[in-house]
Amino acid sequence: MKSKKMILRITLALLSVIVIFGCSSNPYVKDIPKEQYIVMLSLDGCRWDYPQMADMPNLEAIAREGVKLESLQPAFPSKTFPNHYSIATGLYPDHHGIVQNTFYDPDMDAYYKIRDRDAVANKDFYGGEPIWVTAEKQGLKSASFYWVGSEAPVNGTYPSRWKKYDHHFSYEARVDTVIAWLSLPKKDRPRLITWYYPEPDEVGHNTSPESEKTRLKLEYLDSLIGDFRHKLAKLPIADQINIIVTADHGMTRITGDKWIYFEDYIQPAWLDTSLGSTPVWMFDVKEGYEDSVYLNLKRAEHLNVWKKDSIPDTLHYGKNSRVMDIVVTPDLHWSIGWGDRKYPLDMVGGAHGYDPRYKDMHAIFYASGPAFKHGYVHPTVENINIYPLLAKILNLQPAETDGKLENVSRMLKPKMLINN
Ligand code: AMP
Ligand code: ZN
Ligand code: ZN
Repeated sequence: MKSKKMILRITLALLSVIVIFGCSSNPYVKDIPKEQYIVMLSLDGCRWDYPQMADMPNLEAIAREGVKLESLQPAFPSKTFPNHYSIATGLYPDHHGIVQNTFYDPDMDAYYKIRDRDAVANKDFYGGEPIWVTAEKQGLKSASFYWVGSEAPVNGTYPSRWKKYDHHFSYEARVDTVIAWLSLPKKDRPRLITWYYPEPDEVGHNTSPESEKTRLKLEYLDSLIGDFRHKLAKLPIADQINIIVTADHGMTRITGDKWIYFEDYIQPAWLDTSLGSTPVWMFDVKEGYEDSVYLNLKRAEHLNVWKKDSIPDTLHYGKNSRVMDIVVTPDLHWSIGWGDRKYPLDMVGGAHGYDPRYKDMHAIFYASGPAFKHGYVHPTVENINIYPLLAKILNLQPAETDGKLENVSRMLKPKMLINN
């Protein structure tokens, strides 16, 4: 009698296991939606460890429900334009051509500057294939709210929806615009949306990464993410949407007592052109002055000085004609520039642009949605690997990239890798 009861109990237990795991509402067995969406937000300058320094429950919820990277390593130089465009194309700046926020193209005889509207919209500056171009060419609609490169018809193609950069456009209204785009009729609805906030970069520069103001800004940004997630959850396509929150680079503390001034070592008359902002500068040198400039700059402590052809391989930089004869960048926390010495010794602020192997230069990467595993933490990877990840989720044939899907594929549900 006892053993009959036992058999019945075991049978019931087995049945309930089959019901639970066989049920279509179970996330582990549910079919992965064929048509997925990606909404990728960049919080400019959001360092990899900022979420540990502030209260960011909405970002942490993404990690809990999805994945996060230990950190996202930018490309050199760890500045805004080169890195947003590396994320978009999967290429190092040397290969996609946006080698700095400001540079000179000798063949075009033209300058690219982030605040020059005509330059930013000139397709001839942009190499590679941004992910929105890959999407549009393969029949998927895309939209961009200020991602670097989206204002130019790269390879002859704009995102279906894009906007002229307006630094002061309301942060709340950006959320509502993205939600409105996702609420469009299916034929107009973008499957890929890239959007952008210029914070916490600005507050990090002005007050240092560790300041109270930076912490408060992070908490405000997290509340926007909360509002966005809340509104997104109400959409009929909510379970088809992947959210990514990432950034272009990190930030490190700088102080007025750690400045290197170029005229303490070289003379402007020895140079044809000098371009940059701390902590990365490039010089084109007048004929005959190559050694004077190089050897004299080498005298500066805490300064790395490279001739264009001998930049360390790890930086993947220097083959592009837009990189000038000499590139300089200091050790972490140090600043460089021409010496109007405008900063008092007690100045405290933030900077980025340094060698991307410094962890302070690394960015956040959080993602959740039908493509991603649950509660998974992936080791640090370079941001050139994001493009292949996006292409895989959208089932697109990727362009040739420096990044590789295999470096990030462990973030995806195993089914994502066989389904498509
Ligand atoms: P930086 O910290 O100097 O590398 O650059 C950050 C600045 O880049 C931001 O404060 C914005 O003003 C600017 N920026 C970012 N994205 C864009 C864009 N798509 N168009 C124009 N300016 C941008
Ligand atoms: Zn930036
Ligand atoms: Zn910045």
